[in-house]
Amino acid sequence: MSELKIADWWEAKENGKILCTLCPRYCTIGEGQKGFCYIRENIDGKLYSMGYGRPTGFAIDPIEKKPLSHFYPGSDILSFGTAGCNLGCKFCQNWSISKAKLDDINSLEATPEDVIGVAKKYGVNSIAYTYNDPTIFGEYVIDISRLGRQEGIKSVMVTAGYIDKNARKDVYKYIDAANVDLKAFSETFYHKLTFSHLNDVLDTLVWLKNETDIWFEITTLLIPDENDSDEEIQKMCNWILQNLSDQIPIHFTAFHPDFKMMNKTRTPASTLKRARKIALSSGIKFCYIGNVNDTVEQTTYCPNCTEPLIIRDWHSVLDYKIKDSSCYKCGTVIPGVFN
Ligand code: SF4
Repeated sequence: MSELKIADWWEAKENGKILCTLCPRYCTIGEGQKGFCYIRENIDGKLYSMGYGRPTGFAIDPIEKKPLSHFYPGSDILSFGTAGCNLGCKFCQNWSISKAKLDDINSLEATPEDVIGVAKKYGVNSIAYTYNDPTIFGEYVIDISRLGRQEGIKSVMVTAGYIDKNARKDVYKYIDAANVDLKAFSETFYHKLTFSHLNDVLDTLVWLKNETDIWFEITTLLIPDENDSDEEIQKMCNWILQNLSDQIPIHFTAFHPDFKMMNKTRTPASTLKRARKIALSSGIKFCYIGNVNDTVEQTTYCPNCTEPLIIRDWHSVLDYKIKDSSCYKCGTVIPGVFN
């Protein structure tokens, strides 16, 4: 067993307690206790990052699965997470990992150098911190992404964006791209179904846009009767247009019954199409639907001449016609990071 990693972002309080300042939950953690995310532990008055160096396993995924549609489309990405999560989503689609405690799960041991070595072995040029929320293993993310930058390997956060303002400057220092879940556009939904808060996530999105060069896209998992009304989708699109940009790709993806939300039906494709229609008619230039087969609504079109440029089916790229980051036909620049 490798040496435990002392965490960043905490303050010692009275009676051996610790205030964790990594995410807006700000857990006060007593001696011998763990925070809400299960993997930050107070041992003898110091906070330890128990997920450091302990991924739950590695996979090579198409980057479209993250989902990212404008960041090296068609490439493969090394993906991993750890146990635990700082949100409590009742509809979690990955709960066997995110709700696991380290003791319940067969974690591997991998130093940052090992992770970069795995990426090189499989010939991928990027790594995704994903499956659970990488915020909670921020120290590990920093060390891998710093090394990755030296070695020409990009780093991608797949996150709910629920992170403290100061900590995110550190965690995202060497990050190249992110997919941020905007889980709904109502505080009631966030509070009741995720145990987190909408405004903190919006704040992270605005920060990414205004204060970093990180490429990011947004994903909303649409759940029947919870966050899929025309009104809520319209409000979300208006907010994105007013506070971010019309150039940020939005993904509407289908929910399947899981974890503590088994009483719902799977999201019908018609809901995803309806949401995409609202986004496009509001002025958002790139919108995709996910977790279904639909070539038409998963393809990237030139926003000027409407030519199909990246033709997809689910996570597969069937045709690629972007040239010098632009539409091959009319020359309009397509936002994103392309080969
Ligand atoms: S990172 Fe974990 S321990 Fe720290 S405040 Fe968030 S949930 Fe609590």
